[in-house]
Amino acid sequence: MSLSKKILLGMGLGVLVGLLFNFALPNAFDIVNNYIFIPVGKIFLNLIKMLVVPIVLVSLILGTAGVSDPKKLGRIGLKTVSFFLITTALAIVLALGTALIVKPGIGDYQLDGADYEATEAPPVIETLLNIIPTNPINAMVQENMLQIIAFAIFIGFAMARLGTKVDGLLKLVEQANNVLMYLVNMVMKFAPYGAFALIATAIGGQGFSAIAAMSKYLFVVLFVLLIHFVFVYGSALKFLGKMSLITFIKGFSPAMIVAFSTSSSNATLPVSMDAAQKNLGVSKTVSGFVQPLGATINMDGTAIMQGVATVFIAQVVAQDLTLSQLITVLLTATLASIGTAGVPGVGLIMLSMVLTSVGLPVEAIALVLGVDRLIDMFRTTVNITGDAVCAVIVDRSEGNNDLDDLERS
Ligand code: ASP
Repeated sequence: MSLSKKILLGMGLGVLVGLLFNFALPNAFDIVNNYIFIPVGKIFLNLIKMLVVPIVLVSLILGTAGVSDPKKLGRIGLKTVSFFLITTALAIVLALGTALIVKPGIGDYQLDGADYEATEAPPVIETLLNIIPTNPINAMVQENMLQIIAFAIFIGFAMARLGTKVDGLLKLVEQANNVLMYLVNMVMKFAPYGAFALIATAIGGQGFSAIAAMSKYLFVVLFVLLIHFVFVYGSALKFLGKMSLITFIKGFSPAMIVAFSTSSSNATLPVSMDAAQKNLGVSKTVSGFVQPLGATINMDGTAIMQGVATVFIAQVVAQDLTLSQLITVLLTATLASIGTAGVPGVGLIMLSMVLTSVGLPVEAIALVLGVDRLIDMFRTTVNITGDAVCAVIVDRSEGNNDLDDLERS
């Protein structure tokens, strides 16, 4: 059986076992969860997280050093960031439009902010200004991805300019990359068990009454995620990347499953780069540049959740959003998606920034809290898919055609 099938099977079993505990054996869930599911899930998560910081550093150094022409680097950077911004804006427009039409918040909701304590979202401008690390080692210790990215790009750029003078260093980084990728493959052997345990924990602990109460909101978010996936990514792939969505899904599914089970773009990064390079034929240079950057700043799924949630909350508290407020949501949600770290649940914290920007009560986040764990799994999958779609398109536009070679072989 192929690895993706095994992981899929693990995930399916996780859903079944989680449901079984939730409905039939709720009392036994805590014990089994604490002694089996949580430890197994944690081992898997720690194993892949262990590789994230070194992989971001090494692959971005290689990705940047691989482009010796600064003009080409600028071009790739510009294409990548434009793609990220345009797709995120589209995602929010889709989310706002659908939520305004479907009106998920009109009904008999009670505003109940008692059980949510608002956490303050870090100001995005500050995050942007802090991109240059004053201490790169500290950036790595604190897993500050944006700072690690900036540092790696500087080093890679210098290496590209110094050319043969730093041959030795280049070789060292290349070899480090091989070692890390080997480890990714090794860790992935454990993924079926990890996915099983993580999903069982998430489903088993899910309050299903919340799902019923918030089903309209939940379905609108899932619907927009699906539309964005099929139409925006599907057509971008077809017209700009000359690849069908089916081919893409076939190659990228291992990463999508890991994103779904971990709810973390960062933790999925090693797997998503591996899948893009090996199965979608994206060159190491482009994948090494686009995907770590995307895992940190490009979050279309999160932006969709925030767009729908804002309209939903406005409807529940019976406040109409004006056109200028909708535009404010578009801008702040785009910024929030850049500032959202690729770890579970942060999208919800950043939602407070979007709500504040249009004068909605932050406590109302309690209204969407109950289903957020579930939505996080789906939106993270969309988040990392957007990065990989961008990598395919940028790679193609730079004239790399590795997929043809892959298909031929
Ligand atoms: N979990 C998401 C991610 O890692 C971020 C979020 O929306 O909470 O991409």
